[in-house]
Amino acid sequence: MYTDKSLDKYGILKRYFGHSAFRDGQTELIDAVLGGRDAIGVMPTGGGKSICYQLPALMLDGTALVISPLISLMKDQVTALQNAGVSAAFINSSLSSDELRAVYVNMRAGEYKIVYLAPERLDGEGFVSLVQGLKISLVAVDEAHCISQWGQDFRPSYLRIIDFLERLPRRPVLTAFTATATRQVRDDIELILKLRGPLRVTTGFDRPNLYFEVLRPKNKDLTLRALISQRRDKCGIVYCSTRNAVEKLSAAMCDAGVRATRYHAGLPDKERRQNQEDFLYDRAAVMVATNAFGMGIDKSNVGYVIHYNMPKSLEAYYQEAGRAGRDGENSDCILLYSAGDVQTAKYLIQSPVENEDLSENQRDAVIKRDIALLDSIVGYCKTTGCLRGYILDYFARAREDSCGNCGNCRAVFSSKDVTPEAQMILSCVKRIRDKLNYSVGVTLIVHTLCGSADRRVLELGLDSLPTHGLMRGTPKAQVRDIVEALGAQGYLSTDPVHGGVSLTPEAGNVLFRGENVEMTVREAPAPAPVPAREKRQKKKKADTVAVVTDETDGLFAALKTLRFKLSREENLPAYIIFSNAALADMAAKAPRSMAEFLDVSGVGEVKAARYGKAFLDEIAKYKS
Ligand code: ADP
Ligand code: MG
Ligand code: ZN
Repeated sequence: MYTDKSLDKYGILKRYFGHSAFRDGQTELIDAVLGGRDAIGVMPTGGGKSICYQLPALMLDGTALVISPLISLMKDQVTALQNAGVSAAFINSSLSSDELRAVYVNMRAGEYKIVYLAPERLDGEGFVSLVQGLKISLVAVDEAHCISQWGQDFRPSYLRIIDFLERLPRRPVLTAFTATATRQVRDDIELILKLRGPLRVTTGFDRPNLYFEVLRPKNKDLTLRALISQRRDKCGIVYCSTRNAVEKLSAAMCDAGVRATRYHAGLPDKERRQNQEDFLYDRAAVMVATNAFGMGIDKSNVGYVIHYNMPKSLEAYYQEAGRAGRDGENSDCILLYSAGDVQTAKYLIQSPVENEDLSENQRDAVIKRDIALLDSIVGYCKTTGCLRGYILDYFARAREDSCGNCGNCRAVFSSKDVTPEAQMILSCVKRIRDKLNYSVGVTLIVHTLCGSADRRVLELGLDSLPTHGLMRGTPKAQVRDIVEALGAQGYLSTDPVHGGVSLTPEAGNVLFRGENVEMTVREAPAPAPVPAREKRQKKKKADTVAVVTDETDGLFAALKTLRFKLSREENLPAYIIFSNAALADMAAKAPRSMAEFLDVSGVGEVKAARYGKAFLDEIAKYKS
């Protein structure tokens, strides 16, 4: 395949990818690569990183190598490229030796513009000598945070990239991409990959089309069921913290007639692959999974991500939740919070798997770090302020006071005087401390106040305190909320390692000097996120896509049905044919000719040639 010299980058963008404008950061990154400069792109999930290396690959002479961590997803990416008219291939352990040989032969002949590789390949002698004889246009490292031991997804095999590059006769331009925002990980990527004077581009982390909400359901299972049935026409992911929960919930959903599938590290490889594929191909509507699922998942039509349990950090949360709405459609990110999740997480942090490589000090440091990470997500669950704002603050991004598209911005809050309750709680904390000479955790404090006679309370003799049972009439969850509010307002402090709660000097103001305490409470539950798309305003993006309205809804549905039919026939994931955003734009523009069809966002020349007629016929049928 020859490099297309007749088109500039805009021409290539339209012809192969079907888009008419670049998104934030793409132009800069592409120009750097085209000009021979290394680059690092930090962009959120769904931000459009792939085009930053795929497009230059089409414009430069030679073959681009893309290193990507997930074998299971390379095939998808390559299929999508092929479907858009790009000659591409992948090399990983899923290929038979015949297939591998065929790819090598084509590669040697310079057939491919883009080859995806698993990092494990990079030190095979055969592969290295093959590449030494090739013209390499660029090397792109996708999910580059895998190179950092500070990242959650560290892959030792990523460290082979450097040796590999050093064995090439001429070092090609090198680019790295990740969605991980932390400084440390970014620095690691630059240092370890030895990027040379790279252009650094970090784009906005805000995802305006995502609706954020934290719910505190009494019964998570019932709430989950309701949330999913309200979103019957969408695909979604439900994240759980344990394999057990995945098994239980996916089985319950299937029993209830939901097309659900499951994914966790304990399943046999074959089933995992099958289930992932069912979800990618829309054969399953709901993926119930542990956090083992998702990295590099490019399914663009995920309409919601529900967390059944709280994840370990805000970073992990934003990454997982961010898998919703990559096509720019309004999508929901809902976290089901319960205080029990915090306790489980703390317990797990404090009893890490025996690791003999770590000294006592190092272990303490790890525990401290993990607790701090946990605090970030607990803070998110508890804040009464804008949830999006909380996330942007955490990543040190600019934000507005209120986003108008999160559970808290839509809820009604009021201030309530809780001085008497605060006094009871603070004096209980003091009495426990005086009695035991050490401080205890929140649960025990709540149990004591509520008059519980459980084993721990009796063992420690806390039932003999005058504060035992002082708040008997108040639900435990409510007492806990007030305890936590007192922590947030600086009257109580929690030991970061063992979780003991003690009074701060400020507590004296409430106990002895008549200071009042107020707490923000949610008046009514936030209105359930409305699926009505028109009600939510969308920020204008570079490539403005149509919003499905009542008028276009019918056609949109018909186009989706056609897409599903084609995806069956061609055995391709539906979103590889056209994204939801493309179908929405198609429904709005209702093109009547091939020229008009090409005007639809997301329609490139190859896809227009391949699918244009079928879609134009469907539109004509619908409009007649
Ligand atoms: P990332 O790898 O950053 O998570 P992808 O490269 O997979 O994101 O892109 C996510 C989605 O955004 C894809 O559906 C892609 O087609 C779309 N996209 C990328 N760039 C553009 C653009 N310039 N205009 C419109 N859509 C785009
Ligand atoms: Mg990607
Ligand atoms: Zn908000």
